[in-house]
Amino acid sequence: MIGSIQAAVLQSILDSMGDGVVVVNTTGDLVSTNPAATQILGANPLAALATLRLPDQRTPCPPADMPLSRAIVGVATDAAELFLPPGHWLSITARPQIDGGGAICGGVAVIRDMSAARGAEMALRQSEERYALAARGANDGLWDWDLQADRLFLSPRWKAILGFEEGEIGDNPAEWLDRIHPDDMEPFKVRMAAHFRQLLSFFEHEYRIRHRNGTYRWVLCRGMAVWDNSAQATRIAGSQTDISVRRSIEQQLQHDAMHDLLTGLPNRALFIDRLERTIAIARREKTRIFGVFFLDIDRFKTINDSLGHATGDEMLNTIAQRIQKCLRPGDTVARLGGDEFTILVENLVDEGSVEVIAERIQHMIAEPIMLGDYQAITTVSIGITTSALEYANSAEMIRDADTAMYHAKMEGKDRYVIFTPTMHAQAMAKLQLERDLRGALARGELCMHYQPIITLSCGRVNGFEALLRWQHPQRGLLYPGAFLETAEETGIIVPISWWVLRESCMQARAWQDEFASDPPRTVNVNLSARLFAESDIVDQIIAALESSGLPASSLKLEITEHNFVELSSETSQTLRRIRDLGVHLCIDDFGTGYSSLSYLYSFPVSTLKIDRSFIRRLGMPNGQSDIVQTIIGLAHTLGMEVVAEGIETEQQYAQLRDLDCGLGQGWLFAPGLDGAGVRALLASAGD
Ligand code: C2E
Ligand code: CA
Ligand code: CA
Repeated sequence: MIGSIQAAVLQSILDSMGDGVVVVNTTGDLVSTNPAATQILGANPLAALATLRLPDQRTPCPPADMPLSRAIVGVATDAAELFLPPGHWLSITARPQIDGGGAICGGVAVIRDMSAARGAEMALRQSEERYALAARGANDGLWDWDLQADRLFLSPRWKAILGFEEGEIGDNPAEWLDRIHPDDMEPFKVRMAAHFRQLLSFFEHEYRIRHRNGTYRWVLCRGMAVWDNSAQATRIAGSQTDISVRRSIEQQLQHDAMHDLLTGLPNRALFIDRLERTIAIARREKTRIFGVFFLDIDRFKTINDSLGHATGDEMLNTIAQRIQKCLRPGDTVARLGGDEFTILVENLVDEGSVEVIAERIQHMIAEPIMLGDYQAITTVSIGITTSALEYANSAEMIRDADTAMYHAKMEGKDRYVIFTPTMHAQAMAKLQLERDLRGALARGELCMHYQPIITLSCGRVNGFEALLRWQHPQRGLLYPGAFLETAEETGIIVPISWWVLRESCMQARAWQDEFASDPPRTVNVNLSARLFAESDIVDQIIAALESSGLPASSLKLEITEHNFVELSSETSQTLRRIRDLGVHLCIDDFGTGYSSLSYLYSFPVSTLKIDRSFIRRLGMPNGQSDIVQTIIGLAHTLGMEVVAEGIETEQQYAQLRDLDCGLGQGWLFAPGLDGAGVRALLASAGD
């Protein structure tokens, strides 16, 4: 009775247990199980237990080592961890079952399913392993700073980044902090403190740290703190990555973006940056005096074109070095591009010292430059402006130095010019002129005047020189002197010239039709030298002749002697093609070019126009009639026609006739006339 009550109690205990219980007899046959055992092992617990494996999950547990097998031979097992495929971890405790007589009568196993706990543990272990692996394999050094004990753990990789072996750096935080670059220490501390106070959600900082070899490496450090209940940071841990390579690439890119590749000098962007900074400082410190120089190498293009770009580059490099030698370390030389340099000279004693510097630069640059076997000598034009004009920004200051440089060029190059505000007014007027000029042709504001060219022996009109005029809407009738230079500089001269050519041919042809003469009257058109750089110059001439119907022999093109001297052999080819059309070529302003006369033989020229300056001196006491006489003699010898320009007096006229000068023009006969004036003249001449 008592036994059966005990058995019932025992059964209910077994039924309610979370652990499985399996009881076997001495032959290993199942005696009883509880529901938990069925839940863990399934309907056939012994079959399930036979599949147990060792903790490596692969090796089957040897039958003799099975906890129940051991139990029935009298060996106890405590909490053996075994694996039950496919995915359970079991903890099995087994005991022999002893009967009243002390003999073994079977075995009992208590089986606990450890899968849940084991899974969490495994996951933890895996992540730890992964972490350790990552730490070993990654480029990052790891650090862990116990703030309470003030001890620092540094991973081998952390130390290796600085060139140290594992044992060579201890756990004192000073091992880290004392190696930080002094300039980077402050922001490092500030950021870390901000993170400790939870103002920054994590610590991140790029800084330099001293390597074993004394150089500094750039590292990126990241970390995260742990805080106690009173919001006190107790520990901070994180990683440190060597970013020196990235940094040096960044620095190179940054350097390249701010420097000229050829000379290595600062470029425009960096120059502007420095100048802006200097202007800002000077606004606070009024006593500061600084200057901006704008340099342009004289005739660099000629050197570049004739000796090649490589040689041109070499020359720029030499000049860049020479300029640097003239300056103090704090000054900035920049290459703006091409052959233009700018210099920012700071901390001048007075404004006058810019002149000393400019002279020094000129001196240095004037030294011959060896370019391979070739010795080049060059000069520079320098424009200067100083802080005395109280500039508000860099753009204005550079602009004014540029304007002054332009004046230096105009005044004959190889010199320096200090900017004055009137130059700015002039530059503005020029800009305005340029703007007006751009539309002048389209708006029909340009027109031609024609100055008669007279056969001096009989006084008859032989032809005309077409002279350009601009009926400016505000400024009235403008002569070429007021706008031609700007038109040439800006290139607007090209379309204007083609218009002049067509207009003049058309007009000449109309007068030939209305006032026939023998030979037909000619028209002289002035050509600027830069038109010879236009590939379609011959086509333009042909088109003007064809559209007007003017015979080629009635067109004469004037090129000034000065320009003639600079013409290339290619141009002489072009001139020959023009001559072959039947068009005549004249050398204008003859006698002013101070050049060898050899070109008279090499270019197909038919007419010399003696410059006005020689004619003016005719008839004066000491008047140089012998020069005029020589020119006329030369022209006759070469079979050329001669035109005397600027005849203003009867005396000059008479003298030229005596010297047997064929043609002449000048106010004595007529100034440049408009179309109506010419018609009136031709009509009254009656031929
Ligand atoms: P240039 O070719 O030497 O033209 C003669 C200049 O002398 C003209 O000035 C004319 O008006 C002026 N002149 C004529 N007779 C006398 C005189 O007796 N005494 C004085 N003192 N001057 C006299 P303009 O029209 O002002 O032209 C100036 C220059 O502009 C011309 O010099 C020529 O080089 C250039 N030019 C004129 N028209 C054109 C054109 O259509 N195209 C180009 N490219 N240049 C032109
Ligand atoms: Ca002329
Ligand atoms: Ca002339």
